[in-house]
Amino acid sequence: MQLAHRMSLLGTESAFVVLARAEALKRQGKDIISLGIGQPDFPTPPHIVEAAAKALRDGHHGYTPANGILPLREAVAADIEKRRSVAVHPDRIVVVPGGKVTMFFAIVMFGEPGAEIMYPDPGFPIYESVIRFTGATPVAMPLYEKNDFSFSADEVLAKVTSRTRLIIVNSPANPTGGAVPKAELDQLVAGLERHPHVAIMSDEIYDRIVYDGRGHASLLAYESIRDRLIVLNGWSKTYAMTGWRLGYGVWPQGLVEHATRLAVNDHSCVNAATQWAGKAALEGPQDAVDRMVAAFDERRRVIHQELNALPGVGCVKPAGAFYAFANVAKTGQSARALETKFLEDGGVATVAGTSFGTHGEGFIRFSYANSVENIREAMHRIRRVLGN
Ligand code: PLP
Repeated sequence: MQLAHRMSLLGTESAFVVLARAEALKRQGKDIISLGIGQPDFPTPPHIVEAAAKALRDGHHGYTPANGILPLREAVAADIEKRRSVAVHPDRIVVVPGGKVTMFFAIVMFGEPGAEIMYPDPGFPIYESVIRFTGATPVAMPLYEKNDFSFSADEVLAKVTSRTRLIIVNSPANPTGGAVPKAELDQLVAGLERHPHVAIMSDEIYDRIVYDGRGHASLLAYESIRDRLIVLNGWSKTYAMTGWRLGYGVWPQGLVEHATRLAVNDHSCVNAATQWAGKAALEGPQDAVDRMVAAFDERRRVIHQELNALPGVGCVKPAGAFYAFANVAKTGQSARALETKFLEDGGVATVAGTSFGTHGEGFIRFSYANSVENIREAMHRIRRVLGN
């Protein structure tokens, strides 16, 4: 067998590797606290589950249009209008199996040898992985702890060349929990007006998980880039639906056909019952989302305080998502070595910052999608490991 060369370029998401290792240790009888994987520890709200069951009972068993059922795309458009005061035609929405798929489509649409694609570092590892897979050159946009993990718009704009095809922005962010301030987005967009050849993909999957009343600054608000902006969003995080596999992209009119064709080639459509569940999620009561975000907020305060009390550890207060990205450089140990020690010696699953790019060295990502009690116990164990 001879595999295509590009297969050797594809990376992975280390959180899944840590998850597998943690599960293996659990099977050996070890008590493991998971602060590794990024998924809400809440069940999907019952009315959403019921909507899927009803769809199955009602006979929604067949293929749907590749871009998603119209009632769901209309519900997405109405939700965007309500939250962002931006009118988006339902035909610009392409429903896909999970947030990741919009990312993959956008990157393969623009990536090829000779092209450059900019991505946040530290950032969601699949960006760099898929950029490399296409043969394009990944260009890191460093995120700085001193800026609460925002990029510097000036620095990003200085890296734009005639070969830049796509810039990926993610706010609120994985793995840092940072949110890019609106002023920085304003500056980025103003600069990009001088580079009309550059498309932008804004990964806004954590848009509903923000704290301290700050709200979410969406790139959808900027008229001047709307014809080259792809917005990635989905149900996984907001509605605790990671296993359902449901997401959407808002595509510029000129790219909808390409995204839909990729969908036809890749998966035909998202399973029908899940799409009806997604509609119920958007149109039904939102109190479960509010409760979940309030619970994350409490945990955020606890983990932020506890991490800063650990020897050699410091942590910026996360602005969104459910991750704390702690600086562990003063422990004198590498992020990977600490990740292994925390898991093997402390029974706490975390993810080394280097899993998210070279700028993640000296950091550990803690997902606080776990109970306050477990977070406190995890911090207690980590203190013990650091003491040894
Ligand atoms: N984008 C970011 C920044 C994420 O952190 C994740 C999941 O962790 C995704 C996209 C993918 O979401 P989904 O599980 O819906 O594919």
